[in-house]
Amino acid sequence: MTNSPRQSSVPSRSEIAPAYTWNAESVFASAQAWEVELEQLAQETPSFERFRGRLAEGPAVLVETLDVREELRRRAAVVQVYAGMAYAVDTQNQAAAANSSRAETLIGHVQGAVAFVEPELLAIGSATLEAWMRAEPRLAVYRHSIADLFRKQAHVRSAEVEELLGLLAEPFAGASNTHSLLTNADFQFQPAGGEELAVTQGTFMKLMAHPDRETRRTAWENYHNPYLAYKNTLTSTLVTSLKQNVLATRVRRHSSTLAASLFENNIPVEVFHNLIGIFRQNLPTWHRYWRLRRRLLGLDVLHPYDVWAPLTTQAPVVVFQQAVDWICEGLAPLGDDYVAIMRKGCLEERWIDLYPNQGKGAGAFSWGAQGTLPFIMMSYNDNMLSFSTLAHELGHSMHSYLTWQQQPPIYSGYSLFAAEVASNFHQAMVRGHLLATYTDPLFQISVIEEAMSNFYRYFLVMPTLARFELAVHERVERRLALTADDLMGLMADLFAETYGDDMTADREHIGIHWATYGHLFADYYVYQYATGISGANALARRIRTGAPGAAEAYRRFLSAGGSQYPIDALASAGVDLATPEPVEAAFAVLADYVDRLEHLTA
Ligand SMILES: [Zn+2]
Repeated sequence: MTNSPRQSSVPSRSEIAPAYTWNAESVFASAQAWEVELEQLAQETPSFERFRGRLAEGPAVLVETLDVREELRRRAAVVQVYAGMAYAVDTQNQAAAANSSRAETLIGHVQGAVAFVEPELLAIGSATLEAWMRAEPRLAVYRHSIADLFRKQAHVRSAEVEELLGLLAEPFAGASNTHSLLTNADFQFQPAGGEELAVTQGTFMKLMAHPDRETRRTAWENYHNPYLAYKNTLTSTLVTSLKQNVLATRVRRHSSTLAASLFENNIPVEVFHNLIGIFRQNLPTWHRYWRLRRRLLGLDVLHPYDVWAPLTTQAPVVVFQQAVDWICEGLAPLGDDYVAIMRKGCLEERWIDLYPNQGKGAGAFSWGAQGTLPFIMMSYNDNMLSFSTLAHELGHSMHSYLTWQQQPPIYSGYSLFAAEVASNFHQAMVRGHLLATYTDPLFQISVIEEAMSNFYRYFLVMPTLARFELAVHERVERRLALTADDLMGLMADLFAETYGDDMTADREHIGIHWATYGHLFADYYVYQYATGISGANALARRIRTGAPGAAEAYRRFLSAGGSQYPIDALASAGVDLATPEPVEAAFAVLADYVDRLEHLTA
């Protein structure tokens, strides 16, 4: 690892050159300017009351109400972005934490103040609204959002029931909070291996890539051991969350938890089942990779803790400027202007808060609101993983950039389902470009290694967790009991099928693996990573093989934001996630990586 010496001396925030910090001043010139806007919004929000009870007066009042609502929400989001930026880069800064929570409070006030709009819209009725939209062009922009409101009406309950459901949201978050506090704050892990390397939530994945096998084995076991020791408590937190999902599903009169969850973004349940079905059919591609990996590592038996073991000792150093160049080269098929916007964002406009500093939050994300730059926070470490992470986050940021440029505020957001296509698309395009262009065998192996570990998470673990999630929800829906051993047995069985005979996993440690994912408390969330990587690779293949109009269609998808349902926006870009083709396309890419790796190491 080229970055280990640097970690012992992580610089303080003030030591980071401003060029490598994100451009917070472009959002508000100063903290005082932010304060003024916060106060201004706090004063303006109650005056939204002037529209209450008046929406049925006619299209002129209605369109004014909707425009004012959207502008209030947008400005509050900008206030929240600025406060959140200060906190994300310095989580020990108490003032930043306080400002962030003041911004949250403001968002809550705005949401409360505008809450009467939707019931009034529903009361006007869709026929009248349709006539008004034809008469008033400024209102027509809201057509999709109004149609979506009426689509959801079938599952909206009486005002009293809705109020109760709203009040339940906070106590219902308790199970997830308990899981998070137990595993992130309370768990103590035994150190790994002979070198006594510390195992924490932050170091676990680094240890999994350690060249010494005994270090990996002990890290894997010592990481999972506290989860095993608390298997009953952890089971109780998940089962509580499952029961809450089932309760909400029944109150809202959906046929199943799966249908209820996918209803939100109008995604047909076939998309979920199709993903799982095609995934299971193609598992032999993964099994072929295990056999190759076993040979390359010189092992008789491959264990889950060997999945990330390095295949080469000469991992390339990838500095930021190089990463930007490669990403721009890879995205060239989307057009010179696309690449120019991205390059300028990285090198001049300071979209990115790039390097680690003391107190900076973990992970990487793309963030902002219409009217701000599409910011990125990460901890760049001059390696392939950082480079790939940058490509991914820039995919999100370009999606935001084009959406914010093209859409009115009402459609300035997009679903995770669409988001993970845009981010994975960047990675797919860049990998395809690098493998086709730079032929040095060691470099190619490094590109493929990074790709395989990314696919392992998105395209093996996530679909397996999705199967687990469906199975446990169905059991609770049928009022069957679930013990810790039931959950562990189910998880171990699913991984046994996924891994096949070429991988050996001990049933205890792999059985509790589910508990290491807080994602499971957001029901039916993880499958979207697998559909994302599938859609992304299918679209990248269309564009890289020169399908006519493919790049233009893809840019229209990025510009669509929330103005269409994600499944429709993707279909018009050329990929239908209700069919086997995109999932098969992702497996074809995976098979190609295995072929190349076989060839490179023959
Ligand atoms: Zn992402």
